[in-house]
Amino acid sequence: GTMEPSDLNALIREYANLAFHGMRANPNPINVDIQLDLDETLPKIKLNSEDFSRVILNLLKNAFDAMRDKIEAQGSEYKAKVIIRTKDLGNRVLVEVEDNGPGVPDEIKDKLLMPFFTTKKGTEGTGLGLSITHDIIKSHEGSLEIQSEADTFTLFKILLPKTIS
Ligand code: ADP
Ligand code: MG
Repeated sequence: GTMEPSDLNALIREYANLAFHGMRANPNPINVDIQLDLDETLPKIKLNSEDFSRVILNLLKNAFDAMRDKIEAQGSEYKAKVIIRTKDLGNRVLVEVEDNGPGVPDEIKDKLLMPFFTTKKGTEGTGLGLSITHDIIKSHEGSLEIQSEADTFTLFKILLPKTIS
């Protein structure tokens, strides 16, 4: 793939849909509400769409896995929800992926982006998803920040420049 002017919202719609249907076809699906809150005023921005689609898929896969654990722990009282937002910030574009899963404990927050860091058992997790996600965002001259509150939410905040040198 190459960097070319792309419709980020359309990419998010396509891959959120793919991730949802992929997860539902899985041996261990969950009930999750995926909300898209997309800024329809976004202009096209330079993206490697093939690479950036991995970012969306990786973040959604992690959210589903985390929420699956919370469903197993809490049962049907809990309604799993993921929100993907985009927002035009002028010279930058904000992309947020937020879930209402178990959250990330403070003591591991700094390790999440490290290659091979995983809390998943056995062969379930490679620990490469977020490291690759971070690399792809960096290749777009963007940044990735993680915010979380125990048992409340996990938010991945991506800032992308509108123009890439
Ligand atoms: P993997 O998914 O293979 O474990 P990742 O690099 O994608 O590797 O994620 C690393 C770790 O970050 C996960 O094992 C998990 O502990 C934590 N994590 C990632 N996303 C979330 C999330 N949305 N909620 C809670 N924990 C998360
Ligand atoms: Mg992962």
